[in-house]
Amino acid sequence: MSIASNLSVIRGRIARAANRARRSPNDIVLMAVCKTQPASKILEAYNAGQYLFGENRVQEFAEKFRALANLHAAEFHMIGHLQSNKAAKAVEIFHAVDSVDSARLAHRLNDAAKSLSKTVDVLIEINIGGEGAKSGSAPDSPELEAIFSGAPNWPHLRIRGLMTVPPFTEDPEGARPYFRELRELRERLVTRKAQAVTLDILSMGMSHDFEVAIEEGSTCVRIGTAIFGERMHP
Ligand SMILES: *Cc1c(COP(=O)(O)O)cnc(C)c1O
Repeated sequence: MSIASNLSVIRGRIARAANRARRSPNDIVLMAVCKTQPASKILEAYNAGQYLFGENRVQEFAEKFRALANLHAAEFHMIGHLQSNKAAKAVEIFHAVDSVDSARLAHRLNDAAKSLSKTVDVLIEINIGGEGAKSGSAPDSPELEAIFSGAPNWPHLRIRGLMTVPPFTEDPEGARPYFRELRELRERLVTRKAQAVTLDILSMGMSHDFEVAIEEGSTCVRIGTAIFGERMHP
């Protein structure tokens, strides 16, 4: 199957999942996760009308960046773990950072955005399953608290929502309670009156579980292998 036909299959599945959940398919954006994929495949997706992309490593994207510079409608988001010392480079090459997991990183991103006279959209990554090996702030943790209480100090960041990668389960239904938890966490955060944040975006759902994520309120699904096939290297 070509990338174009994979994209159209995925778009159809997104629309059907949205309809089942009585949601508008227009409220869900598809992010094509192109980590490890060569620029030629990204171009193929772009030519099939896919404009939102996710990458998980600063260095890898920095290497592809030039080859993609003429894709004017494309938007690339950083979705992988970001070390504070790469914050400046990330702000330079990405349109948004969807994996902010500490106040320290947010502070660095704000400084970098300020020096480039930019405002950067960010999502806060939540380690919803509390897994040791995964990045993200724990729900209701002091770190998460520090991010939201620090937000007024970072005028160059726009906190747009939450992102999560739940624990892997063979059966996509296994992810449902985690997706629901992220949605509930979002509700708790926005109802706290003091917060000057809206958190419109819930980025959750990948190739094997995105339909369940949509049923639980996802507004952005991040799909890699179901669009591009197996990754080129781990
Ligand atoms: C790789 C990756 C994805 C896409 O995973 P697939 O299973 O290939 O769809 C989504 N989100 C993040 C954060 C990733 O690292």
